[in-house]
Amino acid sequence: MIVVMKSSATTEQIEKVENRLIRLGFKTHPIHGEKSTVIGAIGDKTVLSQESIINMDGVETIMPITKPYKLISRELVKGNTTVTVGNVLVGGDEIILFAGPCAVESEEQYITSALKVKEAGGHILRGGAFKPRTSPYAFQGLEEAGLKIMAQAREITGLPFVTEVVDTRDVELVAKYADMIQIGARNMQNFRLLTEVGKTKKPVLLKRGLAATIEEWLMSAEYIIAEGNADIILCERGIRTYETTTRNTLDISAIPVIKELTHLPIVVDPSHATGKRQWIPALSNASIAAGADGLIIEVHHNPCEALCDGPQSLDPEQFRSVVKALKPIAAAVGRKL
Ligand code: PEP
Ligand code: MN
Repeated sequence: MIVVMKSSATTEQIEKVENRLIRLGFKTHPIHGEKSTVIGAIGDKTVLSQESIINMDGVETIMPITKPYKLISRELVKGNTTVTVGNVLVGGDEIILFAGPCAVESEEQYITSALKVKEAGGHILRGGAFKPRTSPYAFQGLEEAGLKIMAQAREITGLPFVTEVVDTRDVELVAKYADMIQIGARNMQNFRLLTEVGKTKKPVLLKRGLAATIEEWLMSAEYIIAEGNADIILCERGIRTYETTTRNTLDISAIPVIKELTHLPIVVDPSHATGKRQWIPALSNASIAAGADGLIIEVHHNPCEALCDGPQSLDPEQFRSVVKALKPIAAAVGRKL
């Protein structure tokens, strides 16, 4: 439920309400707005006599949160959340472009690609050091050596980076190097992993599961925020349907739906959605037109030789032209790029 404080409520009154809620076994999340404070209270409502809260000094009203996800719900926070990754603000006026190879393959490959991404206008680097591959015989990633290379690329380019963690045992290691932790589609419902990244102070990029409903996806975000980490960006990356021409089916409608249901930013990954580089420009344009806060695109300096996801990787020139085409679209929807 949401306890709405009067705009005249004092800090002391807000604290008293919070303390009473905590004593009643609730987890509290105060949100200080421009006009007034609201306290999100998560817990067992049946232990609460509403009068014990509503009659307290400074309380305006109590409202239930009707959705199963609470802290990420638009019912709790009316404004849009922004998430800062390194020095880059996501969810603000500017469209943010995450770009880079699917996987870190070598120092030479990653640094070359990272420099090209920066030159073309990318804001945040991407790259996998722990790769969730369908085949156990496929390249699995360079692990810590890959993280070190990405940290080096950050030094050289000044761009922060996001990278995936696939196992609870590696969360600490990844958090030590990365500016943002990615939870991949295959792990969207790995609840222990969500809890572990929720305990870190790093922003989290939460990809939509291969066949997850929007509500399941949002419940996964709730796992992260429930641990105290509110810096979550959702990523629509296509879902599995009966269509096989594309690797997945991009759910464009998820963008406005997510904007209505939650206050979190959403970015789109047209690379994993289509699996083919020639369809990425159109889906990038459509995603920004539909209200996405950014894109995450696979860019490799030499896609033909990529160890992972080459067919869906853009070369730097193609990425540059995607960025150029996006500028008027961003402007048309009142965003900057
Ligand atoms: C990736 O970003 O490289 C990746 C594996 O994506 P997804 O989890 O969306 O398949
Ligand atoms: Mn990939």
